[in-house]
Amino acid sequence: MEYVEILSRLVACHTASSVDPRLNEGNRDLIGFAADLLELNGFMVRLVEAPDDKLCLFARLGAGPGGLLLCGHSDTVPADPAAWSTDPHTLTQRDGRLYGLGACDMKGFIAAALSLAQRVSEPPRPLSIAITSDEETSMAGVRALVAELEGAESPSLVVVGEPTSLVPIAAHKGYLAGEITVRGRAGHSSNPAAGANAILACPGLIGRLEGVAHALMARRDPRFGVPYTTLNLGTIHGGDIENRICDEVRLTFDARPTGVVGCDEVWEMVSMAVTAPLEGGCSASVRPLYPDIEPFASPDPGLLRRLEEGSGCAARCVDYCTEASFLKRLGPCVVMGPGDIAHAHQPDEFLPLADVERLMPLLERLFGEHCMAS
Ligand SMILES: [Zn+2]
Repeated sequence: MEYVEILSRLVACHTASSVDPRLNEGNRDLIGFAADLLELNGFMVRLVEAPDDKLCLFARLGAGPGGLLLCGHSDTVPADPAAWSTDPHTLTQRDGRLYGLGACDMKGFIAAALSLAQRVSEPPRPLSIAITSDEETSMAGVRALVAELEGAESPSLVVVGEPTSLVPIAAHKGYLAGEITVRGRAGHSSNPAAGANAILACPGLIGRLEGVAHALMARRDPRFGVPYTTLNLGTIHGGDIENRICDEVRLTFDARPTGVVGCDEVWEMVSMAVTAPLEGGCSASVRPLYPDIEPFASPDPGLLRRLEEGSGCAARCVDYCTEASFLKRLGPCVVMGPGDIAHAHQPDEFLPLADVERLMPLLERLFGEHCMAS
């Protein structure tokens, strides 16, 4: 099957993931298509159950340690067809571009991995392909897959094919998010002194959180475009009616650690700010909203140099995070794939055909280096 046909089959599958259950779609069609194609080409295919009735796939041609593992996520963000010029699920080619939902992020890379799989026979070291679910939301798929595979024989290179315009990514930030609850004591508004108003405790608490953000900013990491660990307050909600003393306020925040600062240290700083005494007898606590995602750094400068030579692009560091934070447990890992991240998550998302033309020989070269060399 030709590359464009494989990609059009992947794009036709409805695989959006969303925290809104009405927009959350499955991925069994896509996994079934990939599993059939890979089995037909001699791969051993293993399916791993993921939350929300989704599946992850791990397929392998050949046996033993070493080899190459190519990874992609099956899901997309939800699309609004009215905002698209053409049907998001019909791959459309025009002006040297392939338009379709997920064409760039990141079914285009999965199609390239499947296309390579069709053209190789059993190598001395294995070629493996992993497809995950829910990368755009909880990263639950990759967590389940890595838990299944950890401890098995390691590949000598793991490529996470997120759209980077084929620039190798040397490092990316991690991610954590939490909810802070400020508790006071309710009472009738006719005597505010009779209760403890959680709203009045917020300015002091927010000031302390700003202090944490500034302390993080001082720990520079010039590798990144935003060269420090960020802390951002996202939401604040509290109180229920104007004539009652407010007894509860909730704030949410996220942080993106660089690696100079890790997730644990951010939690320590935030916890200290939150649990110190508050105005008027209020108290506060904090809890994580999701499991943390640790920062990622490519472990091997030699490996990066070879990828830079292969792609013709200098490696760089990015502020967003990827499944590499988990997949690095399986082997030396790099993030590099076709398409521009700026075109992901947008109406009329596209993949330049020129990227595909550069990617295929690069994958063949990596296959030669990691699977054919004995
Ligand atoms: Zn992606």
